[in-house]
Amino acid sequence: MKLICVGRNYAKHIEELQNDRPDAPIIFMKPDSCLGQKGQPFFIPDFSNEIHHEVEVLVKINRIGKHIQPKFAHKYYDEIGLGLDFTARDLQRELKAKGLPWEKAKSFDGAAYIGQWFDKSQFLNINDLQFQLTKNGVVVQNDTTANMMWGIDDIISHVSRYFTLKIGDILFTGTPSGVGLVQRGDELTGQLAGQHAFTLNVK
Ligand code: ZN
Repeated sequence: MKLICVGRNYAKHIEELQNDRPDAPIIFMKPDSCLGQKGQPFFIPDFSNEIHHEVEVLVKINRIGKHIQPKFAHKYYDEIGLGLDFTARDLQRELKAKGLPWEKAKSFDGAAYIGQWFDKSQFLNINDLQFQLTKNGVVVQNDTTANMMWGIDDIISHVSRYFTLKIGDILFTGTPSGVGLVQRGDELTGQLAGQHAFTLNVK
């Protein structure tokens, strides 16, 4: 199982990190060893002083597919979720500056968290799903999938040109603005379309 992630999919987040606006989706992957154990907290790794939360809408692939056209992409998923793409921003900055791959900053153990899954049929419009992340009771990230530069079906189509999608693969569709530091003792809560998706403690 692989986690396929989109970078820079919300214009305001591109501005906050002062990145260039891409002309095609930026794709990176996380291995399944990134996934934290259910019910376990997120442990801050010792190699970073700047772990950021990135809340993202997730899509679980339910069929094998390659070269999927956007108009057929909706047949490749039934469930939508919400999760966190934890990023060691200090390390990522260092790697980016040297033109090196991001894996150490994005793919360490615990760097992906997946909340509850929801059947997509319960949402009226997955292209306008409101979602938010609350840190210690304060809303820190809040946006809608309507503000994605590439929507879910476009992402599926794009990534399947390069990688065969397999059952159980998960797409992380990019984070909106508001990314920020997590520290020991923080409590992170995610909501998707008004429904509780996860609560995660930071240790
Ligand atoms: Zn991300």
